This record gives sequence, structure tokens and C-alpha cells, in this order.
Amino acid sequence: MLLDLTGKKALVTGIANNRSIAWGIAQQLHAAGAEIGVTYLPDEAGKFEKKVRTLVEPLNPTLFLPCNVQDDAQIATTFEEVKAQWGNFDILIHCLAFANRDDLTGEFVNTSRDGFKMALEISSYSLTVLAQAARPLLNAGGAIVTLTYLGGVKVIPNYNVMGVAKAALEMSVRYLAAELGPQNIRVNAISAGPIRTLASSAVGGILDMIHHVEAIAPLRRTVTQTEVGNAAAFLCSDLASGVTGQILYVDSGYEIMGM
Ligand code: NAD
Repeated sequence: MLLDLTGKKALVTGIANNRSIAWGIAQQLHAAGAEIGVTYLPDEAGKFEKKVRTLVEPLNPTLFLPCNVQDDAQIATTFEEVKAQWGNFDILIHCLAFANRDDLTGEFVNTSRDGFKMALEISSYSLTVLAQAARPLLNAGGAIVTLTYLGGVKVIPNYNVMGVAKAALEMSVRYLAAELGPQNIRVNAISAGPIRTLASSAVGGILDMIHHVEAIAPLRRTVTQTEVGNAAAFLCSDLASGVTGQILYVDSGYEIMGM
């Protein structure tokens, strides 16, 4: 069987610019034959919308919708539009996270209540609320994929509250996989190695993290958005029909190293 997403509709969240992991995923899903829909985080000036719209144009997205995951009304409107324009769909890519820059440097012990709530709401709860909204529209054989990082399992300096958010996200993957499995919807996460993006540049010392991986990882390099996109395409395809509730490391093997 070859990797083939022809006839599948994929809704991709989290594209901000051409460095976004979600952009790498959208391109690989499209290359495998999927029809693409895109949601973006709207801003008041509409600059973000324009930028993302221009970037994704080559993929001919058949849906392009605003969706701030902190806004229940907007999530409802987004999925009403998905239903109206697409009817059912097959693939949901959850590729977004946020924490205050102040909480991504220095000591975790100093995390504020509001900073903790916001990081967990945007970076973890959003998977559940999007799965909730998508569930009635997802076809049997459908797949949800989210993005996590090793900092949700081990202590990584400066990752701090985002590590706690990723731990919650990874456990959410397991609960959602258990509950959506009987409907033949699979839920998995990719734990990506460090990549320079808008979000990762907020984490103190991201370049040092990348250099460390280049020195230690079995493949002696970090990974690209395309490599993460390829793994996502696999997880969303029928080739992975027996895989659910898993965290797939796409990190040049860094995770296996003890020293
Ligand atoms: P990115 O900045 O390109 O993407 C983050 C996205 O989150 C942006 O598109 C942003 O608009 C979106 N977002 C933030 N708040 C939102 C909200 N309230 N509603 C809707 N969208 C919102 O950075 P990225 O590195 O591509 O991040 C994508 C995912 O990959 C994140 O979950 C991140 O934690 C994860 N990840 C990144 C790395 C890395 O090194 N870059 C490694 C492992 C995992």
C-alpha cells in the first residue's frame, strides 16, 4: 500500500508563517493528495490573515477560516462553516501552542497563576475542545494529530510551563484515543525535535537546544518541518490504521539517549 490521502479532507490549524511546523504538515498532506482547509489566529488589523492566505494559496485550500482556540463562539462558528462547506472531513491537525515569554525563561517555580492557566488553555485544552467540535463531522477512518515536545516528559531548561502543558496534551491524546477509537478515529501526537519557529523563539536558549541536539542525537542534526510533515501524513493515512494513542518521536533519535 502506498501513502495516499486522495479523497481525504484535512483541516490544518497553526500556520503562522513559512517556518511553522503546520505549514510543513499542510504541504506534505497536500502532496499526498489531501484537500486542505486552513484555520488561522485572527488579529484586529487582519495582517495575519493576509499573510497566511498568501502563503497557503499554492495548496488551493477549499476552506480558510479564523479560529482563536480561546473563543468558544468562534470555534462553534468555524465548525459550522466546516459542516456547511465540507460536510464531513477526515483529518484534524492541531499544531498550536502559546505561553508568556516571561514564563519560558528562568525558573518554573515563578510561573504566575494567569500564565499557567493561559499556557494550559491554549496549548493543551485546545486539543480537547477542537476534538469535541470535530467529532460529529469526522469520518470513520479519520485521524487527529497534535504536536508535542520532549519537555513534556523530561525537564528541559526554560521550557517550564510549556512542559507541563505538553504533559497534559500527551495525556489528552490517550484519553481522546480511547474515547474516539470505537468510532474508528485515531488520535496521535508527534514529538518533534527543536526547530526554529515563531513559537520556539520564545523559549529561552532555543539555539543552544538545537546545537545540543546536533551534537548528541544519533542522526547528528535536528529535524525539518518536512520530516515532521511526512510523519504526520503517515499517521493520518491508512498505513497507520492500527496506530492510536501514541507519541511518535521525530527528533533524529535524541529521545533514546541517556548520556
Ligand atoms: P508557530 O509559531 O509557527 O506555530 C504556533 C501557532 O500557534 C501559530 O500559528 C499561532 O497563530 C498559533 N496560536 C497561538 N495561540 C493561538 C490561539 N489562541 N488560537 C489559535 N492559534 C493559536 O510555531 P511551531 O513551532 O510551528 O509550533 C507548532 C506546534 O509545534 C506547537 O504545539 C509547538 O509546541 C510544537 N512543537 C514545536 C517545536 C519546535 O521546536 N518548533 C518542537 C516540538 C513541538
